[in-house]
Formats: sequence, C-alpha cells, structure tokens
Amino acid sequence: MKGRRCSKNTEKAQSMRTLNHPLNAAGLWCEVLTASAPGRPALFLDRDGAIVEETDYLCRVDDVVMIQGAGAVIAAANKHGLAVVVVTNQAGIGRGYYGWDEFKAVQDAIAAALAAEGASIDAVYACAHHPQGHAPYAHPDHPARKPNPGMLLQAASDLALDLGKSWLVGDKAIDVEAAKRAGIAGALQVATGYGNAERERASVFASATFEIRHGRSIADAMMLPILKSSNVR
Ligand SMILES: [Mg+2]
Repeated sequence: MKGRRCSKNTEKAQSMRTLNHPLNAAGLWCEVLTASAPGRPALFLDRDGAIVEETDYLCRVDDVVMIQGAGAVIAAANKHGLAVVVVTNQAGIGRGYYGWDEFKAVQDAIAAALAAEGASIDAVYACAHHPQGHAPYAHPDHPARKPNPGMLLQAASDLALDLGKSWLVGDKAIDVEAAKRAGIAGALQVATGYGNAERERASVFASATFEIRHGRSIADAMMLPILKSSNVR
C-alpha cells in the first residue's frame, strides 16, 4: 500500500530508541559493516527505488521488495573489490513516521535477501534530517541530506575511498546531484522508483568530468566501467 506509515514516535521515544544505533554526533546513521582496504572505489547505491521498490516511507519488513538485479550487481561489486555503500535520505524518521528500529529491521531484511544471492553491503549511511523534520532532525538544508554530498563524503573519509573512480546508482536527480558534488566519476540514473519522472531533471548534471548514464534498473550497473569483468580480483 503506497504511503502507509508506521506508528508515529514521540520525540522522547525516538531519542531513547537511538541509543543502540550507529548514529554520529550529527544524528547521521554511519554504519561500516566490513573491514575495508583503503583506496578502493565505491559503488554508491541509493536504497528506495534503486535496490528496493519505492513504497514511500518504507518502514515495514513485509513491504521490502528487492529490485531484480540488485543482488547480482552487488555480488559483482563485491567480487570486483568495490566498496558497496548505501546512501539514503530517511525523511520519514525526521518527520516522526517511524524510527531507527524500523529502519534497522528493513536494512536487515535487505541484507538477508542480498546474502541469499551471495551479495553484501559494506557500509550504510542514512540522513533523517529534513526541513519539515522534528527535533533533533529539523534542518533547512542539512549537509548530509541529498542533493548535498555529505553522506558520500563521510563514507569517503570513513572508508578511505577513491572517489574519482566511484559511481552511484539512484533514481532521482538529487542522487545524481549529490554524486556530482561529491566529485565521483558518474551516476547511473535508473528508471525504477521515481526514475522515469526524474530522468530529465537528472540529465542536466552531466559535464566533461561527470558522466551520467540512464538505465532501466540497477541491473544495468553491470555495464559500468568499474564492473567490467577484467577488473575482477
Ligand atoms: Mg530513491
């Protein structure tokens, strides 16, 4: 069901729920899951509409539907020695529609689905801040909320990534803009999620130093230069 929201959290309940979660001082979810060799390029992945079907404020495990090809692409990225980094805006948390516990449950379901295909995510970054968010997530233009590049830059710092060789897969223009502003090589803008409506808006960010490709889905990431078979380790 589109737009279904999980139970609202009071601010107090929400802040108590954050205690066991990997939140930094700015309230950004920064979760490094695997030990990473420095200097690797990343495959940055938007989550909703890129890895999983867009359901608007995904917060229930039962609503997790993997997009076909996500597991195969992530498994290939693992084989190529890329750091697979999820970067996701989670305004639903900032707005109080659901909390980090629900976010974690959805992430665990995604990880389990990927594991069944021999694929794994190396790090997850999530930004709950939003102009209409409630404290502590009210922010007019948080540097980590896409289209700002903060999550990608935080990942680059945490994992010592080679940004210049990294790519992003996402459905929205804000994903593509964040990728460009982080200084990575390019972005694959996919038609899943909101992608069809966002294609034109996203294409304006192409430049001599930033390549944009358009694909049907994340499955087309197999054709990105960093996933060419000759690079397999
Ligand atoms: Mg998306």
